[in-house]
Amino acid sequence: MNVVTPLTTTFGPAEAFLGKGHRLLIDGKWVEAESGEVFETLNPATEQVIATVALGGTADIDAAVAAARKAFDAGPWPRMMPAERQRILQKLGDLIEENCEELAWIESLDNGKPVKVAEVADIPLTADLFHYMAAQARTREGHVVPTSDFAIPGAEFHAYTVDEPVGVVGLITPWNYPLLIAAGWQMAGALAAGNTVVLKPSEVTPLSITRFGELALEAGVPPGVINIVQGYGADAGARLVEHPQVDKIGFTGSTRTGRGLLKAVADSNLKKVTLELGGKSPDIIFADADLDAAIAGVAMGVFFNQGECCCAGTRIYVEDKVYDQVVAGMIDEARKIRLGSGQDPDTDMGPLVSQNQFDTVMSYVDAGKSDGAKVAVGGARAGDKGYFVQPTLFTEVNPNMSIVREEIFGPVATIERFSDINDVVRRANDTDYGLGAGIWTTDARKTHHVAKAIRAGTVFVNCYNVFDAAMPFGGYKQSGWGRNRGRQAFEAFTETKAVYVKLN
Ligand code: NAD
Repeated sequence: MNVVTPLTTTFGPAEAFLGKGHRLLIDGKWVEAESGEVFETLNPATEQVIATVALGGTADIDAAVAAARKAFDAGPWPRMMPAERQRILQKLGDLIEENCEELAWIESLDNGKPVKVAEVADIPLTADLFHYMAAQARTREGHVVPTSDFAIPGAEFHAYTVDEPVGVVGLITPWNYPLLIAAGWQMAGALAAGNTVVLKPSEVTPLSITRFGELALEAGVPPGVINIVQGYGADAGARLVEHPQVDKIGFTGSTRTGRGLLKAVADSNLKKVTLELGGKSPDIIFADADLDAAIAGVAMGVFFNQGECCCAGTRIYVEDKVYDQVVAGMIDEARKIRLGSGQDPDTDMGPLVSQNQFDTVMSYVDAGKSDGAKVAVGGARAGDKGYFVQPTLFTEVNPNMSIVREEIFGPVATIERFSDINDVVRRANDTDYGLGAGIWTTDARKTHHVAKAIRAGTVFVNCYNVFDAAMPFGGYKQSGWGRNRGRQAFEAFTETKAVYVKLN
């Protein structure tokens, strides 16, 4: 089971890009870090260095914010006709599509995920978000509002609202969907609304966003509108958060980092903040579900992208009558998954992204065992090279165990049984998080009852991990503030101005 196929070391269509120097994008130019320092990025399947990248710090963030400020205050981007902005962003989406294979290979080599996954998910979804947000650029409209004369008796007003860009937006993003989240979820909406951006991507996966920066310049994005500063969170990231010339932070990452970031914002210029944070999502199978579809879908909800999904459905609840059948089916699904290099077309699941993430996931597996949970399948490292973890399912858990309560962010889930619909809803909601949830049933009344009762930003019914550019995504409770994607994300990058014109 779960054979780790021989590791490939081929770079495929990413070879030419990987061989280049990887620098910072500031004011439309590729530059070395002011300190001259670099850092290495690894292929997590082979643990070999695949590229060195300029290591930005405080001074580089300051230079990038100055460039973004100038581009916002005096440059063409916020002032150009929305139709022109639309054309540029549409072209950028087209270029992402045209370079899908190369981008997918870069993503796979840097993050570990299968090329075949990046080719159908990460890259096309990023392109689609640019196409969707390009169209949104034309929809920034205001309203004429009927007003009263309470303030000035007898006065008549022409009163209206206008939506304007927020200004300079700082973006800080994680490593699990490096390009999709940084470019698609965060940047596309900010740019469409007319903002300029400084991105601090994850230091764990710096490469695909660098290739994206080249495509952005090719598409005609003016200098200073997109700035990319690679670097560490505690240094470059922290400076971006506290910077007084930044008007908004869009953050995707862990709840812990998000909490710290809010404290820093409170002590700085009270910039606006959107937070997309962690999750511990329930996935509920009722006995009346199409069980074959449910078992395959729930397994995908846990194991897709090595389990490194913020909304992974890792708390599985199965109705009593079908519990044994579902557990057996889930074990089969886990055993079928082939582990290997992401560049191997036969690979279903790659390695975890880093030694750090591997250690975190294995520490949860160990905690589950020592807390008395039963390993139904997996529960160990796979192979002896690379950060591979066997797809793992625990049964006989209780709600206080860390494997049930905390986000693991790897291919690990728990399975519990239930017999009462209200009880399962209560248990599904018994969490600090509220990002996603799944329901598997053929009963329309159960669907709507549970979809309404679940406290989560996204509910998948008879499906999981469906992400559409037009649908908002975000968290209830400690899973975040605000929404990415959809019209809501575009609006989150605008300010509303109210204008009163006294007519008499
Ligand atoms: P992380 O919080 O460790 O890092 C995220 C980003 O924050 C990185 O770029 C990092 O360099 C930066 N950072 C770290 N410390 C910082 C600081 N003090 N100041 C400013 N920036 C700092 O998260 P991660 O390990 O990269 O990603 C995994 C987490 O992201 C998981 O919790 C996952 O659920 C979450 N996530 C959420 C969503 C969502 O949409 N809700 C999507 C993807 C990932």
